[in-house]
Amino acid sequence: MASALDAGLGEEWLGLTRQQLCARVAERGLPAYRGRQIFQALHGRLVETLDEVRELPKRARAELGAAAALSPLRLDQVFDAADGARRYLFSVRGGHAIETVWIPDGERVTLCLSSQAGCPMRCAFCATATLGLQRNLTASEIVAQVLYVLRDAGRRSGSPRPATVNLVLMGMGEPLLNYDQVLQALRILADPDGLHIVPRRVTLSTVGIAPKIAALGREPDRPRLAVSLTAPTDALRARLMPVNLTYPLADLQQACLDFPRRDGERITFEYVLLDGVNDGEAEARALLRWLSPLRAREAAKVNLIPHNPAPGLPFRPSPPERIARFQSALRAKGLPTYVRRPRGRDIFAACGMLAATSSPSA
Ligand code: SF4
Repeated sequence: MASALDAGLGEEWLGLTRQQLCARVAERGLPAYRGRQIFQALHGRLVETLDEVRELPKRARAELGAAAALSPLRLDQVFDAADGARRYLFSVRGGHAIETVWIPDGERVTLCLSSQAGCPMRCAFCATATLGLQRNLTASEIVAQVLYVLRDAGRRSGSPRPATVNLVLMGMGEPLLNYDQVLQALRILADPDGLHIVPRRVTLSTVGIAPKIAALGREPDRPRLAVSLTAPTDALRARLMPVNLTYPLADLQQACLDFPRRDGERITFEYVLLDGVNDGEAEARALLRWLSPLRAREAAKVNLIPHNPAPGLPFRPSPPERIARFQSALRAKGLPTYVRRPRGRDIFAACGMLAATSSPSA
């Protein structure tokens, strides 16, 4: 079967909700329940072609199959890390490269998804920024990352999908700049007739597009929110993250305070620790000050992320003792603070390293 890559845009069926798929099938003269059968096969049983949807009459399969492009991704390379992480380098329509990372952790697995090819946000500590924005991904391309990686995992292990699948929108791109397609993809992935990855298992990480955080808060089935903060003052943040020139820390703080949280839910603030840049006592104190209205509502937790060096980036990771001191300073004030263990560094799969690198180490 031709893929969307080969056949041009085609119909991106993987980007349709169950209801939309039923409507599309009905337009072609088939009963709507056939749409549900197709959805269940594509998203629940992870079939790759309509030919494998045996519930469909042969003739319908042939008719639909001729028009439906089911695979908007082409796998270019796979890299396996010593710690079990796996990085997939895919091509999408237009020849752009995107990446998805499989991060196993016992019975659980986390998939780190891309929402854009490249990224326009220019964060100074991130390798993806060097690519610039190539284009937004479609819902189909976002969903297909999950289907592809789970199918591959099933083939490798010979067992069905892992007991718990978490999704993080922390790969290439700023997801809130591709809002509609990201939300559409999450709706499809949450469907109980498909993968049923519920919103509390999904974390969307943003650099802080304040108006879009407000919009996300109004979504009935929204994912968890993580904010990539990395600097507690406007001057430093504007240097490290140019988004701060548009949405300064006061706007971001207000958006986070207004964000409606579910019971016990906290917003995760990610803080990439850069040696001698943002990892001192003064920054820890400033961070506590900035977070204080959120701390008062028990609305914040902090993930400290040791910087992952990548070619062309001018920063060094903070040494372990500085990381420990920074963490202690925050914890001493009762702020839940964790240090994220880097995964897949040796294959350029760790946080901030996704730059479509086609060799496992440079
Ligand atoms: S950290 Fe995220 S938002 Fe910033 S440049 Fe990298 S991919 Fe884009």
